[in-house]
Amino acid sequence: METKILLTEKELPTAWYNIQADMPNLPKPPLHPATKRPVGPEDLAPIFPLELIKQEVTRERWVPIPEEVLAIYRLWRPSPLFRARRLEQVLQTPARIYYKYEGVSPAGSHKLNTAVPQAYFNKQAGIKRLATETGAGQWGSALSMACNFFGMECTVYMVKVSYHQKPYRRILMQVFGAEVLASPTDRTQSGRAILSQDPDSPGSLGIAISEAVEDAATHGDTNYSLGSVLNHVLLHQTVIGLEAKAQMEKAGDYPDVVIGCVGGGSNYPGLAFPFLQDRFAGKAQSRFIAVEPSACPTLTRGLHTYDFGDVAGLTPLLYMYTLGKDFMPPAIHAGGLRYHGDAPLLCQLVADGFIEARAYGQRQVFEAAVQFAQAEGIVPAPESAHAIKCAIDEALAAREAGEARVILFNLSGHGHFDLAAYDAYLAGELQDYALPEEELQRSLARLPKVE
Ligand SMILES: *Cc1c(COP(=O)(O)O)cnc(C)c1O
Repeated sequence: METKILLTEKELPTAWYNIQADMPNLPKPPLHPATKRPVGPEDLAPIFPLELIKQEVTRERWVPIPEEVLAIYRLWRPSPLFRARRLEQVLQTPARIYYKYEGVSPAGSHKLNTAVPQAYFNKQAGIKRLATETGAGQWGSALSMACNFFGMECTVYMVKVSYHQKPYRRILMQVFGAEVLASPTDRTQSGRAILSQDPDSPGSLGIAISEAVEDAATHGDTNYSLGSVLNHVLLHQTVIGLEAKAQMEKAGDYPDVVIGCVGGGSNYPGLAFPFLQDRFAGKAQSRFIAVEPSACPTLTRGLHTYDFGDVAGLTPLLYMYTLGKDFMPPAIHAGGLRYHGDAPLLCQLVADGFIEARAYGQRQVFEAAVQFAQAEGIVPAPESAHAIKCAIDEALAAREAGEARVILFNLSGHGHFDLAAYDAYLAGELQDYALPEEELQRSLARLPKVE
């Protein structure tokens, strides 16, 4: 019996799966921030290349992966699928636990799966530079690598507090030739507006998005690139689930439950959507669980409505579960899960009951992460550890029920740049934050009025 289920390079998928072809209800369309009417391609053209705008809205089931993108994917793809035999033993569960491991990418996470095609389609459109934001630095480092592969420039607006507290990812971006700025900066109007009110602003992802979008919109040779949330990002990530499906087949198993962590909602849809296709077709009855931090409980406690993607209100209004764009999540260690909204495609599937959502506090998440590391030898990213916690709970429930449940989760990245968080956990210094209902209501009361 195999522990590591591998595909050859020849078995790398050659098309991404577009769930818009099969899902029963599409989300309501994005709205223009000023007119509140559905955005058209011409609204997005100043910051995105036409090919990615097309991928946002296409209903074609399969979108071919260009050969130039496949050539770079082959540096680490197909990624391995593991059977977590040692974890199963520790848990004494009859469940069979599988995980797809995206930490083998040179950026250490799934984010390179979309960074590469985004850089490629921009390069094809004659764009010379990409501007983006990054929180803890995972997305910024992935895009820096991708731009470097295609000989493009990259400007990364990095949330100021992370810029100073987490130097290693900044250095990684600089190794790949990116310009990394501590946001808020004085380069953009959005940044200057924040600095004039609060010169010591620690920054936030929402502010950094405003700066990167403004940079792209005001420079003809520059586009904007987003690492999650948008339809084309989720599309690119389906390479994860397509491989996982082929690997599960090789293992002679099919998942009863498919689990992943959600920040903006890209790695989890990447794994889940190809399996959801079987569910829509009536070929399988798998359950789907999206896991988020209880400190930033977008899917479990947010509202399903229109909201901006950024703080300044420059982005289109997206129909999604949101905590309100001004929501300031506490500084939990899973920096990649602190976004106020989630991908509209994922949100629609949650609203329609295909995907359930669960939230966990960070202490129980780190406990699961350490248990996993000691059993399987991989130190997971704190984000990914949310999925691990849920997988362990499912395995324990299977033990209670005496059921040979098949569990599949996405291990979206490794935690080698997050060891300070493990240090805090081991020293007993990690805190759980319960989000008070009043605070949530205050934030939701400021949602933009659409109707
Ligand atoms: C960014 C990140 C996430 C969260 O982003 P999604 O878009 O929800 O996938 C999860 N895991 C890792 C390792 C990340 O870097």
